[in-house]
Amino acid sequence: ASARAKEERFGFYDRHADQALARELSLESELRDAIVRREFVNYYQPKIDMKTGKLAGAEALVRWNHPVRGIVSPAEFVPVLERSGLVIAAGRQVMEQAMRDWREWHEAGLKPPQIAVNVAPAQFRCDSLIGDIERVLRMADPALRPLSIEITESSLVADHARVVEILTRLRSLGVPIAIDDFGTGYSSLAYLVTLPVDVLKIDRSFVMKMAHDAGYMGLISTIVSLAHNLDLKVVAEGIETEEEAKLLKLLRCEQGQGYLYSRPIPAADFAALLSR
Ligand code: C2E
Ligand code: MG
Ligand code: MG
Ligand code: MG
Repeated sequence: ASARAKEERFGFYDRHADQALARELSLESELRDAIVRREFVNYYQPKIDMKTGKLAGAEALVRWNHPVRGIVSPAEFVPVLERSGLVIAAGRQVMEQAMRDWREWHEAGLKPPQIAVNVAPAQFRCDSLIGDIERVLRMADPALRPLSIEITESSLVADHARVVEILTRLRSLGVPIAIDDFGTGYSSLAYLVTLPVDVLKIDRSFVMKMAHDAGYMGLISTIVSLAHNLDLKVVAEGIETEEEAKLLKLLRCEQGQGYLYSRPIPAADFAALLSR
């Protein structure tokens, strides 16, 4: 084919690729401004003790309070933060905000629970992580263990010795570590079980299917047994029905999180919930 024909053949696709790249770059530059203008806000989703039904913790979930579009979901911008490296600066703000909110609730006598913050792979690998965490812990009260972190399997597949070192240092700061979306990655169980972590979080995609699919019920039951044999706790995410809650309780899952109990809510609403 002539160069001309080739251009006609592929020009269409190239233009789409160009448009996608242009969108990515413009979103990236908007996000850079969002960091400077501090447009990110934390919402908090309660974690419930499955045995007592009481509040056992909360997860901080970032939203972008966009000047024109209003509240934007993390699905739309966290991947761009991750690809651009901006997640390090943005993640630092999420952690700061979580500990500032925690301290405010604490000072108001509201007895805030431990708050889990999601840490992206680039943040986890970043040399400043431990220092950042020490700093935000001092904003709250480190002795009351105000912070935990959630990381995904992809953070853990790097250099084993370094991963173990980071996890061990976090633990020594009194910051428990959960493996988020457990079972959805491709790392081997044999590898994961050698790591010093505290909690396995069962992904919503498994919880969604458990009531109708015995295979998923078996899978969750296996994850819970594995966790308990290793002295880890289990948190299930995405619980939407009483039936799912009942099954997870039967399986001895310690904590649950999902729309059945509450959606992620703004800090002021979470404070109201604490004062009830
Ligand atoms: P994730 O950490 O696995 O968080 C759980 C997601 O499931 C949240 O979505 C939560 O709102 C949603 N969820 C909880 N219960 C239910 C339920 O019963 N039904 C349904 N349909 N959904 C439920 P969200 O807030 O949109 O966050 C999506 C993802 O964005 C998070 O998944 C996490 O990977 C990422 N993310 C959110 N905040 C941060 C952050 O501060 N830093 C980083 N690095 N990632 C974040
Ligand atoms: Mg999470
Ligand atoms: Mg999760
Ligand atoms: Mg998930």
